[in-house]
Amino acid sequence: MVKKKIGILALQGGVIEHLKALEKCKVKTICITKKEELYNLQGLIIPGGESTTISKLMQSHNLWESILDLAEENISIWGTCAGLILLSKKIKEKNNPSTLGLMDIEVARNAFGRQRESFESDLSIKVLGEKTFPGVFIRAPYILTSGSSVEILASFENKIVAVRQGRFLGSAFHPELTKDLRFHKYFLKIVSGEI
Ligand code: GLN
Repeated sequence: MVKKKIGILALQGGVIEHLKALEKCKVKTICITKKEELYNLQGLIIPGGESTTISKLMQSHNLWESILDLAEENISIWGTCAGLILLSKKIKEKNNPSTLGLMDIEVARNAFGRQRESFESDLSIKVLGEKTFPGVFIRAPYILTSGSSVEILASFENKIVAVRQGRFLGSAFHPELTKDLRFHKYFLKIVSGEI
């Protein structure tokens, strides 16, 4: 059971879609734009958008240190797409945004190439059950390497696109843009400590 609130970092990007999905999951939510709103949270979602912009805004809104402090406590964090990039320890390309470095992964940004700027593909994600999950990819990154404590949840064409490391979860695709709530429910199980 999720007793406290789930925050959605609402500085830029796909905030509303996550909000709607969480409401359908019947949990309390709050959009976070300032430090004072980061209390009584059990989970936090860093949405998709532009990682460079979100990174800069997190710093100018004085959220950077507070989010790192929360990450040290018992909070769960899920990053989708740009959010995944911001959770990573390392980005392959140079001149990239500062990242929180909470997940032991190296990512490549916009990594599927021009022809595949946006695409959808059914993904097999064992932790969500037998039925495939609709993967919506928008200028998506993928994960090049991951440390031994990182569980690989999904791959697409041999590229890693979803990972979990304890309380931290990352997806290169956008479950909030589908009607399928299974990925959100999976995150909420991590949040509640059920899994
Ligand atoms: N390409 C974006 C970035 O590098 C991520 C795209 C997305 O979040 N849909 O930040």
